[in-house]
Amino acid sequence: MTQKYWNKKIETMPLDMLKKLQLKRLKELIARVYEKNKYYKQKLDGAGVKHGNIKTLDDIEKIPFLTKQDLREFYPFGLVCTELDDIVEIHASSGTTGKPVVGPYTNNDIDLWGEVMARSLWANGLRKNDILQNSYGYGLFTGAHGFEKGAQKIGAMVITISSGNTKRQIDVMKDFKSTCIACTPSYSLYIAEVAEENGLDPLNDFQLRLGTFGAEAWSEEMRSNIEKRWGITAHEHYGLTEIIGPGVVSECEYKKLHVNTDHFLTEIIDPKTGETLENGEEGELVFTTLTKEAFPAIRFRTRDLASLSEDCCECGRTLPIQSRIKGRSDDMMKVKGVIVFPSQIEAALMQVPGVSDNYQIIKTKKGDITSLSVDIEPTEERFKQGSLNDLEKKAEDEIYSILNLHVPVKTIPPKTIPRSTGKAKRVISR
Ligand SMILES: [Zn+2]
Repeated sequence: MTQKYWNKKIETMPLDMLKKLQLKRLKELIARVYEKNKYYKQKLDGAGVKHGNIKTLDDIEKIPFLTKQDLREFYPFGLVCTELDDIVEIHASSGTTGKPVVGPYTNNDIDLWGEVMARSLWANGLRKNDILQNSYGYGLFTGAHGFEKGAQKIGAMVITISSGNTKRQIDVMKDFKSTCIACTPSYSLYIAEVAEENGLDPLNDFQLRLGTFGAEAWSEEMRSNIEKRWGITAHEHYGLTEIIGPGVVSECEYKKLHVNTDHFLTEIIDPKTGETLENGEEGELVFTTLTKEAFPAIRFRTRDLASLSEDCCECGRTLPIQSRIKGRSDDMMKVKGVIVFPSQIEAALMQVPGVSDNYQIIKTKKGDITSLSVDIEPTEERFKQGSLNDLEKKAEDEIYSILNLHVPVKTIPPKTIPRSTGKAKRVISR
């Protein structure tokens, strides 16, 4: 018999039971961090919270938030809640905007990571007979390691190729008959581009059937381009180093993002006031790791915007559904009083036939005034046809219809924008 869920008991647990489990774990977490970590003890004492006075899940609101700033202050191991010699693995964010965030794991944390990633990849449709080409960059970054752990737990074959060396990616994909690729969405398109340059057809010359993508904001339109280009089903993963890496939120076969909320308690707050919002309202995602040992996070503010729903899903899972990330609060731009997220511009551009998947948003700041313009690469075919002014005009109209804002668009020759083997740089400042 084919098994529909990786962990049926948890994934289909009635909501009231799931909440009881969360509450039990939350109480244990508070008791544990209170005893093990000076910073948390101080913080909980300051808020008047002890193990005994967490009676409902809502009581979590008494605890102050954990911010990226706190993590920097306690870099690298100040928030660790075990002995240092219990740690068996370390990851870290790139630290491009300051000190990196360090993620330490105990053996139990590693098991947990494998479990939530197996659950996520299984829900995407990955099975034992699959061959997963792991084209996330190996190294301190969590991505590649999380996908490897989950896929191996399922029993799939993992090709640990890492990112880059794109010609080799293509040879390996063809020779090893990879059925699934894990990387950033933009890198999968770059691989397709290089395959075509080498006389191969992404649709027919490979065995790929599944893409498990993450680490980058991408629109539904970009998803559909990737699916058509490769002939695959493309799934979204969302995670972060501060919480565990990938494995926090991932899609079922109906492309609904389920939160592994038995381990990661989720709140949505008003980013301005910090107040908790109702289900369905859009706000900032806040996570609490209920079971992690080495580096628990309590009410970590992600700066990512989304909404949550407890509606039942066609797949039968009761795990709450998170909307796709609208954008990081950090990426939000305010132009002539209009709030703009890069993903909105992407969605508009992808509506215009003849515009390729490669574009760049140029942000110019003069004094207090921000203005935007967009460079687009037409497809090779469209570029040869000429009359590119028409294409620019269509793209501008499409952006206007979404944002009600005039953003000048300029065409540039195909293959001008630098390609990335990791996160694509969609916005540049001038
Ligand atoms: Zn579902």
